[in-house]
Amino acid sequence: MTKLLALLVAVLLVAPVGAAHAGRSADAGGSGGSVVEVRGAPATSLETTEKPLDGKVIVIDPGHQLGNHNFPEKINRLVPAGGFRKECNTTGTATNGGYPEATFTWRVSKLLQARLEHLGAKVRLTRVANREDRWGPCVDARGRAGNKVHADAKISIHGDGSYTAGAHGFHVIAPTDRRPWTHDIYRTSKRLALDTRAALKGRGLTVANYIAGGNGLDFRSDLATLNLSDVPTVMVELGNMRNAGDAHRMTRPAGRATYAAALAAAVRRFVG
Ligand code: ZN
Repeated sequence: MTKLLALLVAVLLVAPVGAAHAGRSADAGGSGGSVVEVRGAPATSLETTEKPLDGKVIVIDPGHQLGNHNFPEKINRLVPAGGFRKECNTTGTATNGGYPEATFTWRVSKLLQARLEHLGAKVRLTRVANREDRWGPCVDARGRAGNKVHADAKISIHGDGSYTAGAHGFHVIAPTDRRPWTHDIYRTSKRLALDTRAALKGRGLTVANYIAGGNGLDFRSDLATLNLSDVPTVMVELGNMRNAGDAHRMTRPAGRATYAAALAAAVRRFVG
């Protein structure tokens, strides 16, 4: 009885294998080649869409360093800013509850880095820690950060600190055409700014109601971070940290994830 069962099992196991082999042979003998190609094509294109930023280099500049306020002599010293000199850096702002801009920009930057690396990009950050015992880098180093690595884009992440009543929303700052400093990048930077604004709006974020023009875009010639770049660059003020509604979003993981997702979409749109 046991032997008979074993034999039955053996037959049942062998039969489907044989059938499968027969099936494959039939494919190979007929349109097998094309079947293999058709099966291969979607897999290849799927791999490509999984790493759309493969080979791209993105520089993320998380605004300020947490410890800047502990090093006033260092951050007040003047550095080249693109035909003039400017303070190395500032302390940055904070929410009314004391959540620092440096921590906000650091956390959004790390989330953005993870997203971009997942999409295949090489990511460089202008600072590698968020600490009270560190300062800088200065704005000239931040401005040049994408140049040597030939970055495809450089994004500086900030939070604003306007005390104007009711001031809220994000805005994107791009360089003006300022020869010889930004003449090579102002057009592509404007395109990056438009992509960034579209991506942020696409995530339901509203443009700043306190910046001239009211369209979420600002063009400036006084920022070393933009002036010294030889690669397309923008600075984003993701919200007004002094506004209760913006602060609510900026101090929560879900809010920061929204900003990071939008910025990743902007990069993808721009370099893709
Ligand atoms: Zn800032």
